[in-house]
Amino acid sequence: MSTRCGIGYDLHRLAEGRKLIVGGIELPFDKGPVGHSDGDVLAHAMCDALLGAAGLGDIGTHFPDTDPKWKGANSLLFLEHAKNLLADKNFAIEHVDAVVITEKPKLGPHFPKMREALAKALGVSSDQIHLKAKTNEGVDAIGRGEAIAAHVVATLSSV
Ligand code: MG
Repeated sequence: MSTRCGIGYDLHRLAEGRKLIVGGIELPFDKGPVGHSDGDVLAHAMCDALLGAAGLGDIGTHFPDTDPKWKGANSLLFLEHAKNLLADKNFAIEHVDAVVITEKPKLGPHFPKMREALAKALGVSSDQIHLKAKTNEGVDAIGRGEAIAAHVVATLSSV
């Protein structure tokens, strides 16, 4: 058996009048990510981490933001697609660890639901998905509440 790791990162600007969707869950907040799809930074960074670990490119390769098919798309679909690509190459998802950075709102209370939604999309158990929340201590665009970002590391095994 061999093990491979992949890293993913994403950032979206936050604007009024957009739904805030993180980890497949809609959170009550007055701003949301600007993006072609639903702008779910956590799902996007996770998708890149998984694809990277498998050597399968990145989210833009598979879901170009010029394709009208993905306008407003639920980003959990990207994760489901990535899961299938991994399975085709005989990779199994061992663990996914993530940091989501946003000044507001508080994410921790929503983590159980996010882990459940992400685990379902990836066909794994929610204890294989670990989520952490950080603020940016008021510094830079994230600290001013103008953006949300996520970093994810994924570990895969193959037989
Ligand atoms: Mg994105």
